[in-house]
Amino acid sequence: MLKNELEKRFFPYVIKPGRYAGGEPGTVTKDPTGKTLYCHAFPDKYEIGQSYLGLQAIYHIINSDDRFVCERTFAVDIDAEEILRKENLPLFSLESFRDINEFDAVGFTLSYEMVFTNLLNMLNLAGMPIRSKDRNDSHPIIMAGGPAAYNPEPMADFIDLFFIGDAEEGLIEMLEILHTLKGKTKKEKLLTIAQKVQSVYIPAFYDVNRKPIEKSSPKEIFARVQPELKREYYPDHPIVPLVETVHEHLAVEIMRGCPQGCRFCQAGPIYRPVRMKPVE
Ligand code: SF4
Repeated sequence: MLKNELEKRFFPYVIKPGRYAGGEPGTVTKDPTGKTLYCHAFPDKYEIGQSYLGLQAIYHIINSDDRFVCERTFAVDIDAEEILRKENLPLFSLESFRDINEFDAVGFTLSYEMVFTNLLNMLNLAGMPIRSKDRNDSHPIIMAGGPAAYNPEPMADFIDLFFIGDAEEGLIEMLEILHTLKGKTKKEKLLTIAQKVQSVYIPAFYDVNRKPIEKSSPKEIFARVQPELKREYYPDHPIVPLVETVHEHLAVEIMRGCPQGCRFCQAGPIYRPVRMKPVE
């Protein structure tokens, strides 16, 4: 079992094992039998990723559904990477110490462009080809979303599927399709998602001039906007880190977007319209 190997060959030697050990209050572990396994991957250090409010929401929404398992993985620090490579150990999830390759889908948050190379390094650490065209049906479907996915083209060769916009409901729609189509090919799954889920960009279904080459792919892709920030998106018991993170506080989303809308800022334009939650 990978967990035993990590306990012997990885955890005693890393500088800050708490970043990789999981087990924080608020984490969810499930029996994976018959479920669709999704790993949310944050291509930055634990201290940064675990402070990201969107991660708490996605983790909660997916794990609230009995059909799915959502676990987490983060970019590992330099010392941990050296050990993983030297010991020939794969990138793993924090909840069950499962090899990333064993998940049905892995979804990366692209918070900003500086993490693009971390994402490629994580795919490489997981032992899978970094280019989408070189991965096959045995590999997880590699998804990406988040603010930097609004311009997906720089990462188009590496990602199977981009979700553009608010993912709270779209991610569940995609996982439902993967759950129904378990055992089918990657192409069949992606074709069905392209046909049925809005705000999805699958680069392999477009030519170099960005014209669709698959009938099910839309000519234009619009970012998903959830008009209401629903109560059920947010966990009553968020994950509470056991090591110090960059935001040492509980984050609560009181609104999405910014009413100033400055042209140089990403948050102003991409989170339109501004949605505020009622005070109560
Ligand atoms: S810079 Fe961005 S977040 Fe700040 S006021 Fe302008 S739009 Fe809002």
